[in-house]
Amino acid sequence: MTTPLKITPITLAKLAKLGITRRSDLVLHLPLRYEDETHLSPIATLQVGESAQIQGVVAHAEVTHRPHRALVCRLEDGSGEVFLRFLHFHAGIQQQLKVGKRVRAVGEVREGFYGREMVHPKCANVEDDTPLQTSLTPVYPTTAGLSQTSLRKLIANALEVIPITDTLPESLCNRLNLQDFSSSIRLLHQPTPDISAASLVAHQHPAWQRIKFDELLAQQISMRIHHRERRQRAAVAMLPRGTLTEALLAALPFSLTRAQQKVFSEISHDLSLPHPMQRLLLGDVGSGKTIVAALAALQAIENGYQVALMSPTEILAEQHFLKLSEWLTPLGITPVWLSGSLKKSAKQRATELIASGETLLAIGTHALFQKNVQFHKLGLAIVDEQHKFGVEQRLALHAKGKSSAEASLSVDISTPTLTLPLQGGGKPPEPHQLMMSATPIPRTLAMSFYADLDVSVIDELPPGRTPIVTKLVNDNRRAEVCERVRAACAKGQQAYWVCPLIEESETLELQNAQETFVNMQATFPELRVGLVHGRLDNAEKVRVMAAFKAGELDLLVATTVIEVGVDVPNASLMVIEHAERMGLAQLHQLRGRVGRGAAHSLCILLFQPPLSELARARLKIIFEHTDGFVIAQEDLQLRGPGELLGARQSGVAMLRFADLNEDGELLELARLVADELLRDDPDTCRKHLHRWIAHKHDFLHV
Ligand code: ADP
Ligand code: MG
Repeated sequence: MTTPLKITPITLAKLAKLGITRRSDLVLHLPLRYEDETHLSPIATLQVGESAQIQGVVAHAEVTHRPHRALVCRLEDGSGEVFLRFLHFHAGIQQQLKVGKRVRAVGEVREGFYGREMVHPKCANVEDDTPLQTSLTPVYPTTAGLSQTSLRKLIANALEVIPITDTLPESLCNRLNLQDFSSSIRLLHQPTPDISAASLVAHQHPAWQRIKFDELLAQQISMRIHHRERRQRAAVAMLPRGTLTEALLAALPFSLTRAQQKVFSEISHDLSLPHPMQRLLLGDVGSGKTIVAALAALQAIENGYQVALMSPTEILAEQHFLKLSEWLTPLGITPVWLSGSLKKSAKQRATELIASGETLLAIGTHALFQKNVQFHKLGLAIVDEQHKFGVEQRLALHAKGKSSAEASLSVDISTPTLTLPLQGGGKPPEPHQLMMSATPIPRTLAMSFYADLDVSVIDELPPGRTPIVTKLVNDNRRAEVCERVRAACAKGQQAYWVCPLIEESETLELQNAQETFVNMQATFPELRVGLVHGRLDNAEKVRVMAAFKAGELDLLVATTVIEVGVDVPNASLMVIEHAERMGLAQLHQLRGRVGRGAAHSLCILLFQPPLSELARARLKIIFEHTDGFVIAQEDLQLRGPGELLGARQSGVAMLRFADLNEDGELLELARLVADELLRDDPDTCRKHLHRWIAHKHDFLHV
């Protein structure tokens, strides 16, 4: 009977860094790769770049001083010879590598100073009949101060002392054609030499399929549970009365697209339920999300509740404010504006209107969700471009839901839990939430990331849009591009000139934008040129945008601050400098600023060679496609999901082994099985979650 190894507090701390807090977590700490010490390679057959285990007799050993001080010894096995080189060495190693000693060495073969060599190989003295390893040697992810050897020992011990039971019923495994858990996990820790190390490393072996499935299943179960928990919480049911929504629809100069009608009816239905809605509205740039938000707001207002509409930038918030004022003031609803840049007295006035309930619609930046803003009766919170908000802001938003529901509760964004402690009279109602995003994400990702949300998709653009033409132009043809700008503006069109993104330095980026502005004024003395960038004072930013929108400027020089949401339908030409530096999502968003009216729109992407592989691939994609979902799919292929979605990504934080890019089918299966188990077999769900995410629950609440 093996007993559990004692683990010192120091080691415990190191393990915790690896996410290992329970002995059973060791079992799920799987190798990155393997070293094959199950056979010996004849020295003559060694290839440069190959990792190999060899065995031979030391024929010569000396400490050399050229090219550096090193212990070098020559090892012969009858087939050939190779050098072992040690730049750092102690007496013990010198002892091991004395002439005549028999040595087994594992390392990578390189072309060295004297010929083929291994630098710092792993060495041991052996007898002729010392047995070889019988399984591949695992190499684990580790952290400073925790050696492979100790980690291997701990894990091997855990495999002996922890009962490795299957969390899933056998019948299910059989039906899904999944290998059992215990043999899968043992195989991955200690694979026999007949298994291809490549199939293990690529996570393709059936044992990996099982582990990845389990991981995805845990993720799906926990996110679905989170989804269900919402049903236990209370919100006010806000029925569609139609008084205001109908009036707005009647006054609009356009009618809703089929897709807009569909998503609004989904939202409208959710709002009428006594549980908090948490719905994500996905729609490509220009698909018309704003009007849907306005209608949702009206349904809450019809019921006498307040609405908060929050945008990630001041420019965007201001646009919403203007647009919604235009739409809603005739209906007798005057939105109130709140942003960080407001003067103190104006801010004070706005917060009073919000707190007294006098105002029913508040529009602004995240200033809306600061501690000092208390809503009287918040029924619905709308977050535009939600992917632009950081995790902390999202937590503050959740917390705001709580504090408005229960005024005594302070906002604490450091505890990422949504559920309130039960109060005497039951839970107070929470506001409904509508999140909007133009990040089109592929279906597999949407399923995984948003399994805890309900998702509505606007999958068509309003009619009458002429597709944007995209041109890739070498920067040395700038002069021609300038002529196009001149010609377009002469015809009464408006244009954007987007300055390069300079990731390394915001100051340089700003400088460059200012220089571009001066140059443009000199190049186009006949045009009215404006400049907008992130460092501009907010009032100034808003003033420039308003002037551009009103047609008082012909050409707007801008940094990427205009990336989200800016809507000026008369602007039909966009030039983007150094397009090769930008990501696909960003290019797509920027390009979406034109093509919003009926005029033919053109987007010119200036690039400066030489182009990296990645830049070339990106430019090709943006040139060939205008559909944001297709671009997102291609982007996923190019970069992988982690980068594509940035920091939110509660779903992804839970995944160590599965790769959403490759495991789409497994994910789909996991989703189905999760629903099935949640319905029929809660016990299995509990066991499964316990193994996989007992301590990772916090990710769910971001
Ligand atoms: P986004 O989804 O990118 O936020 P917006 O809501 O800004 O898009 O809408 C883009 C433009 O399309 C706006 O000028 C808006 O007034 C207009 N629009 C929205 N819906 C329709 C429609 N059904 N028919 C015609 N134009 C529409
Ligand atoms: Mg928008």
